[in-house]
Amino acid sequence: MEAMSALISVQNIVKRFGGLTAVDDCSLDVPKGSITGLIGPNGAGKSTLFNIIAGALSPSSGKVLLEGRDVTGLKPHQLFRQGLVRTFQIPHELGRMTVLENLMMVPPGQAGENLISAWLSWGRVQREDAQIRRKAMEVLDILEITHVAGELAGNLSGGQKKLLELGRTMMVDNCRVILLDEPAAGVNRTLLVKLADVIRRLNRERGMTFCIIEHDMDLVTELCDPVIVMAQGTVLTRGTMAEIRANQTVLDAYLGS
Ligand code: ADP
Ligand code: MG
Repeated sequence: MEAMSALISVQNIVKRFGGLTAVDDCSLDVPKGSITGLIGPNGAGKSTLFNIIAGALSPSSGKVLLEGRDVTGLKPHQLFRQGLVRTFQIPHELGRMTVLENLMMVPPGQAGENLISAWLSWGRVQREDAQIRRKAMEVLDILEITHVAGELAGNLSGGQKKLLELGRTMMVDNCRVILLDEPAAGVNRTLLVKLADVIRRLNRERGMTFCIIEHDMDLVTELCDPVIVMAQGTVLTRGTMAEIRANQTVLDAYLGS
C-alpha cells in the first residue's frame, strides 16, 4: 500500500475504569482511504478505543486527531458532522419502523437542512422528502435488500440488520470514515460476502475510510490493510495480514487469550 496520510490519529490514549487500565498509552493511525483492521484478544481495549475515537467516552489522557485537528472530547454528534460515523445496532424503537423509514430518518450530516427554512417552505420539504426517499431506495438497491424496504426493521435477520446499519451510514452526505465494531458477528456466509463487497465498494468508489474491529480472520484477511493488533490496551504490531501471521509475538498474544 502506498504511503497515505492519517485520517484518524490516536496519540498516547489512556483510559482507566477505576483501577483497571483498559487502554494503555495507545497510539495508532488510520490512513486516509484505507480499510484498517483492528484485531486482538477479548479485553484488549478495542471497543473502548472505538468509543473514545467516536466521542462516546472521553480518555483519561491522550489525544485523537481527525485530519490533524484535535477532536478529543467532542461529542458523537459533533464528530458525525465532521464525517466520522460509527454504526450502532438498530435501536429498539426503530425496529418498529420500516427499513425504508430507518434510512430516511438518518440526519443528512453537514449538508443538512436548515430547519427554519424547511419550515418556511412545505414545497421544499416535499421535494427533499422525495429526494431522501430516492436516496434511500438507491442505498437499498446497492445493498440488494430492496425486497425488504417495507418490512419492519425488527423483523430482519441478523445479517440484514448489519446491512441496514451500514446503509444508514450511506445516507450521511459527508460520511468520510466509518467505524465498525465486529460487523461479521452473527452474520451468515452469504450476507457476509455481500457486506464485504459493500464495504469494498464504498471504499473504492466513494473514497470512504474504514476502521473495522473484527474477529473473523477471513474477513480481515480479505478486506483489511493495514491490520493493527492490540493486546492489553496497546498496539502490539501493525502490518499486512501476511506480515502479522508471520509474527510469532502476535500468535502468542492470541494463543494466550
Ligand atoms: P475489547 O473490545 O478489545 O474486547 P474492551 O474495550 O471491551 O475490549 O474492554 C477492555 C477492558 O476494559 C476489559 O477488561 C473490560 O472489562 C474493561 N471495560 C470496558 N468497558 C468498561 C466499563 N465501562 N467499565 C469498566 N470496565 C470496562
Ligand atoms: Mg469489543
